[in-house]
Amino acid sequence: MDPASDHSSVVLYRAPWVIPVTSPIIQDGVVAVKGSRIIAVGLWSELSLVYPDNQTHHCSGLLMPGLINAHIHLELSIYGVVPQENAESTMCDWVRSLLHKRMTADYAEKEINTAAEQCAKEQYASGVVVLLDTGNNPLPQFTAKIPEIYSLLELLGPTEKATDVMSGILNNLSTEKQPTGHAPYSTAPRLLQNIKEHTLKKGTLFSLHVAENPDESLLLFQGKGCFFDFLQERDALDGTFPLPKDRYLSVIDYLEKTHILDDKTICVHCVYVNDADIKIIAKKRSHVCLCPSSNKFIGVDVAPLKAFLAGNILPALGTDSTASNPQMNMWHEMELLRREFADVPSATILAMATIAGAKALGRETDYGSIEAGKSSHFLGVEDEKISTATCEKELLDILTSIEKPEKVTHFNDHLAG
Ligand SMILES: [Zn+2]
Repeated sequence: MDPASDHSSVVLYRAPWVIPVTSPIIQDGVVAVKGSRIIAVGLWSELSLVYPDNQTHHCSGLLMPGLINAHIHLELSIYGVVPQENAESTMCDWVRSLLHKRMTADYAEKEINTAAEQCAKEQYASGVVVLLDTGNNPLPQFTAKIPEIYSLLELLGPTEKATDVMSGILNNLSTEKQPTGHAPYSTAPRLLQNIKEHTLKKGTLFSLHVAENPDESLLLFQGKGCFFDFLQERDALDGTFPLPKDRYLSVIDYLEKTHILDDKTICVHCVYVNDADIKIIAKKRSHVCLCPSSNKFIGVDVAPLKAFLAGNILPALGTDSTASNPQMNMWHEMELLRREFADVPSATILAMATIAGAKALGRETDYGSIEAGKSSHFLGVEDEKISTATCEKELLDILTSIEKPEKVTHFNDHLAG
């Protein structure tokens, strides 16, 4: 028999609602799965006739694609929340506190890894299927049930000397390690370019904290602000910063002119960007990842989501680390965005947490939406509030403000690949 016409191994997943994300919501819908792939999505009344005797799983809530957390630092999980001391504390004060904790806590590698694994487990339990993790030290293979991890090794250094040291490390990096930069304020231009060139040769992602704080451009273009003071305290100013006068209009303009931006680059945070910056990001087809909870916690402004949407950029979403995010929950990120942008449709916010993240991470052939051909690894989400929804809009409003659904089930994860 032609394997394509063999329906015996097809399994159906039926729910009152199916939210494919990239196509309209289906009421009393069904997802048909064969092995590790989705083969059809549609109405129960139609697909149950195509597959009349097939095994059927019933979900009392809804089916949706898994969440993609496009920015996290698992290795910081051990340090817990690093509080801001008072309302006047700057982001640099927070960075100082985090560094102090990292220098003085003296945790064993095993403890750091155990906390990282626990965080990854919790991400998975909340419905995350893929994480983009960035860290200064490689993590081991975890044995627990966790999301797929795209792991980047972060290199940084603000001086010429540090660039030489880090570039040496870069040149000797084993092939399985994928480097990335940290931020324009912490990493000299030549080092950023060296890392980007390395990732271009390997075809890997380049994720960078960008415009998280207004003092980044003060350091880069004026040689002042809290990052300037921070580097001065550490004797890490060698003339690299400020950058040559009048050459760049903004941080994004600087990144474009130094060839950092392309479709493999993810600009994380992007709080202090203007319309001209957004045009550049769109032109270079770079990705944006917003981290609303982390921004709120550290006390910076709210990223201009509506300007991104107007510029045809659908940002991905990330939690960032435990150090700046007590919740570490993608549902909470969506809920916060809804409060901050009441006039942005809930469907857009859900798309940010799913398909935008999958595209940013280059995993959209498997994840980000429920479509024929994609991975059969998707979510069942159940909650009393979901059962009260009477229309698509109400359903999406509930889903993006739920914060923590009562039950999240990963279907077919064992088959994913
Ligand atoms: Zn971060």
